[in-house]
Amino acid sequence: VTDWQGKHVTVAGLGVSGIPAAKVLHGLGAVVTVVNDGDDERSRAQAAELEALGITVRLGDGATLPEGTELIVTAPGWKPDKPLFAAAAAAGVPVWGDVELAWRLRGPDAAPWLAVTGTNGKTTTVQMLASILKAAGLRTAAVGNIGVSLLDAVLGEERYDVLAVELSSYQLHWAPSLRAHSGAVLNLAPDHLDWHGSMEAYAADKGRIYEGNRVACVYNLADKATEDLVREADVEEGCRAVGFTLGTPGPSQLGVVEGILVDRAFVENRQKNAQELAEVSDVKPPAPHNIANALAAAALARAFGVPAAAVRDGLRAFTPDAHRIAHVADVDGVAYVDDSKATNTHAAEASLAAYESIVWIAGGLAKGATFDELVAKSAKRLRGVVLIGADRALIREALVRHAPEVPVVDLDRTDTGAMLAAVREARGLARKGDTVLLAPACASMDMFANYNKRGDAFAEAVRELGASA
Ligand code: ADP
Repeated sequence: VTDWQGKHVTVAGLGVSGIPAAKVLHGLGAVVTVVNDGDDERSRAQAAELEALGITVRLGDGATLPEGTELIVTAPGWKPDKPLFAAAAAAGVPVWGDVELAWRLRGPDAAPWLAVTGTNGKTTTVQMLASILKAAGLRTAAVGNIGVSLLDAVLGEERYDVLAVELSSYQLHWAPSLRAHSGAVLNLAPDHLDWHGSMEAYAADKGRIYEGNRVACVYNLADKATEDLVREADVEEGCRAVGFTLGTPGPSQLGVVEGILVDRAFVENRQKNAQELAEVSDVKPPAPHNIANALAAAALARAFGVPAAAVRDGLRAFTPDAHRIAHVADVDGVAYVDDSKATNTHAAEASLAAYESIVWIAGGLAKGATFDELVAKSAKRLRGVVLIGADRALIREALVRHAPEVPVVDLDRTDTGAMLAAVREARGLARKGDTVLLAPACASMDMFANYNKRGDAFAEAVRELGASA
């Protein structure tokens, strides 16, 4: 689309993507109608702001396709089986997400995109990548699912040499024409299956990140599903498959040799067949899954031509975000660790694997997940378990099946105060040298506004415990 003047565009959903999309489209001369399921105080305030600009907003009706719609731009979270999209399909109206809109408006011209997706580790990897690119003296930003919208990034005043882009499976689903410089799928485990409909559909949406890649499709050698996605992708001629591994790398791979991150895919000096990048101890925290994230970030940076020294400097300069395996305090010889960001079983498995003897605080919204594999793999590390949240029975049943010996306290609570009670129970179960680990394996919205609030409540409870110890 080049001529937006008078084009009837429906924006589905107010919010972080809908509001900027509506404004941008309105600014281009499109006739914009925003439809929104909710009709609460917040959406009314947002609607008023848009209406003042001359944008039509329909609150409390996200199902009906407005008359004359030629294009829908949807918030990424809107489920593909919504009636609005059925109506659009019947009327032959295309549906784009905000990422697709950004890409079509200016994506390739603003800066090349180094794109990252995966079930877990996206934010961390994109931040490491941005840190590495900055260390190389490049103008860059971490954008996308990470908080800075792609529309703002590609249309804003700031000029970039390259963008470090985090994309969720939802965003990829609605971005059919995206063509990144290079892409990475970090890992694939069941998540958001209620949204995508099946594991196959979820994987296919993630796999879109490889479509049209020019230099490298980065995949995880320990996760065959990511390699399969590379094989299925339609890429530019000369684009390479580049694997990363925690073991010794083969040709066209990055890996680890005797505590050193090593690159055998992008070797500058033709005399050598490997390039040393950084030490494992440069990666924070040096947990195995996080070293994998660092290798993926390094692979994308190297695909963009970044020198080895900048990979090391960028990893050293990187500080992880809150609520990701964050050490809160030691109380009576017990470590309290906040991994509230472990909102699915795959992430929880990674953090449970990082400790030996654990009192595990878990539970929340399961999002269609099953817990048998997680519990079976982690059973031998569990000193005890404290369960909170709406779907805790699913975890309890898995514990009965795979860890019948492990003591379990089922708090049967979903109120916010339950976190303090959970931490107290955990202290009761823990012995010196143990780790009390909040790694809920579930979403937080049954009890908290988001995982940040959940992690804050945990840290607050630990502080109270410390004060009364
Ligand atoms: P995302 O943006 O994909 O949600 P984050 O970097 O915010 O990823 O990390 C989310 C959670 O997943 C954290 O709990 C973290 O401990 C865990 N995690 C991070 N990287 C990995 C990985 N490569 N494999 C498994 N779990 C991971």
